[in-house]
Amino acid sequence: MAVSPTLDGFAAHAERPDASEHELVLVRRGPRTGAHTIVAVHSTLLGPALGGCRLRRYERLDDAIDDSLRLSGAMTLKAAAARLELGGGKSVIFPPPDLDLTGSARAHLLEDFAETVNMLGGRYITAEDVGTTSSDMDALSRLSRWVVGSPTRHGGSGDPGEFTAVGVRAAMRACMWAHFGTAELRGRSCAIVGVGHVGEPLARRLHTEGVALVLSDVDERKRALADELGAQWLAPYDALRAEVDVLAPCALGGVIDGELAEELSARIVCGSANNQLTDARVAEVLHAHGVLYAPDFIVNSGGLINVSLELTGYDRGVALARVEGIEGELGRILEHAERVSITPLAAAEELAHEWLAEHARS
Ligand code: NAD
Repeated sequence: MAVSPTLDGFAAHAERPDASEHELVLVRRGPRTGAHTIVAVHSTLLGPALGGCRLRRYERLDDAIDDSLRLSGAMTLKAAAARLELGGGKSVIFPPPDLDLTGSARAHLLEDFAETVNMLGGRYITAEDVGTTSSDMDALSRLSRWVVGSPTRHGGSGDPGEFTAVGVRAAMRACMWAHFGTAELRGRSCAIVGVGHVGEPLARRLHTEGVALVLSDVDERKRALADELGAQWLAPYDALRAEVDVLAPCALGGVIDGELAEELSARIVCGSANNQLTDARVAEVLHAHGVLYAPDFIVNSGGLINVSLELTGYDRGVALARVEGIEGELGRILEHAERVSITPLAAAEELAHEWLAEHARS
């Protein structure tokens, strides 16, 4: 997965995350490549911390560490809300600016990273994330026991993007029900911002179901998908403000700030990107403007649910059925939020914290 160095992520406008609740943060400089590999374990209360490995050319090491802290905290909530016996963790590889990310240089990078994972003795299990692939997981699985997400031909569960897309679609149905009183997607419209491993299969599914699509990406080559599906192609700035029923942010985090929250035309925000809001207060602004914001860690839990099944014996049919269950789960969260007059984000966090408190390992 190629990631542009010009991405507009959190670093430009967000507060630094708080590391005080993390169990462990390991920052290590790899002896082979000089790349910094970071593992942030937020919680192992429910089990080993499972979370993807992000490979990205951040501007500064601090940005990479901040990303690992934010993402790992969300993984604790995601695993708890999905009732998995897993904790929350995430890793980041921050390569030196001149390091080639292909061929033998990439192999050395993965060796450096595997050593970091092995130092934690199973407290952290890695998987694919933005910038890494299931082939990388395959290579890593020969260097470490604590890896999931290898290709299916090698016994793994493969690219999680497809399953995450199934989960986003299921979550959209729950949002439709809550907002329009019917879960039917046909005849609705949706803007997908970021058509990568999740955004593309999501676009294909929604197209098949008769959803009118707006597609957008910083990578102009993705315009071919819009042409193929007969979708409208817009620049990200315009797609985020498009007049559609649903906005599906499927690129990187920090995309919705207070200003955008007030400018949105979409009535529903339901996408795969992790940490879509610049901070939790934005959920209140969206709520006040009548926008249903579906909590990202519920919407995008399909990939984690799928890959977690590798630890107990993988079955694709079981995985799909469990991921489809996101519709019912999110439906209950939205109903509870409505009943007690809180935001869906607050309701989802409440659910996850309750589960953590009840089921924490002694
Ligand atoms: P990806 O790298 O395959 O795709 C991201 C796409 O977004 C790329 O096409 C990229 O060009 C585009 N993009 C980047 N910055 C953009 C911007 N500012 N505006 C518009 N487009 C932009 O990543 P992915 O695997 O599809 O994941 C997308 C998001 O979903 C990430 O936030 C990821 O953490 C989250 N997520 C993914 C999974 C999964 O299974 N892959 C699971 C849970 C959460």
